[in-house]
Amino acid sequence: MRELRRHQRLQLILQDISQDQLGARRQLRVYVNVINASRRAELTQAARELLLEFWRKRHQAWVAPPDIEGFFPLRTDLLVRSIIGIELNEPEVIEQEKAEFEIAGLLERNISRITIAQKFPPECKRFTTAHEIGHWILHPDVIRHRDRPLGGHERLNEARPLEEQEVDVFAAELVMPRKQLRRYFSLALGNPLSCNDPRLELLQMHRPTVSLSELSSQRRRRSMLVAEARSLGPQFFLPLHERFGVSRIAMAIQLEELGLVL
Ligand SMILES: [Zn+2]
Repeated sequence: MRELRRHQRLQLILQDISQDQLGARRQLRVYVNVINASRRAELTQAARELLLEFWRKRHQAWVAPPDIEGFFPLRTDLLVRSIIGIELNEPEVIEQEKAEFEIAGLLERNISRITIAQKFPPECKRFTTAHEIGHWILHPDVIRHRDRPLGGHERLNEARPLEEQEVDVFAAELVMPRKQLRRYFSLALGNPLSCNDPRLELLQMHRPTVSLSELSSQRRRRSMLVAEARSLGPQFFLPLHERFGVSRIAMAIQLEELGLVL
């Protein structure tokens, strides 16, 4: 009898688990949102327009502005303060009551302020700031919003709310604009790089732990290698991810998005 009760209890637990999983799957289906091509074009256009405005008004941000080469890595802090014209608060950490996750970015529209925690690495602060700028510009209905530290790899997660995905597309274009990235890629590496490209062998010399067969079969391996490469044969250059001040994975994804790594 006791054994039977135990069995029944177990059955009930299993039922609960499977219902939970079903619920989670249903929920997931609700949240899986893909940005369509025309919205994607609008988002990248909005980032380009903001960059252009920053470039035109660069004398507002600097006494002695940099040339286009010195414009990247993008100074997202100056962009917030001088061009968007709102307060940028930079405490070491963002203290929040009842925070269920660590907060790196906070937008407060009612007091025109963006707060970025300084304890995170520069590439994370840059992408998180660009993300908050995205919310500020694209989502006027967002009054108060908090974000985890964002490294750029979150773009891969299509289960995130659509608004989050949208601002990540915007942020990626803002800190790694396609025109400048294509230009730098072509100077450093030449043409887009495909799976059987002979240049892979030269690049792989600096990463002997990754085999050539892995490189030709896995696009992500190739794009990561290209993102962090410092030389191609006798030619040395600043790695792409450092040139734009972003994480390796953020650069790798952007290289794939732009068809620079095929
Ligand atoms: Zn967000």
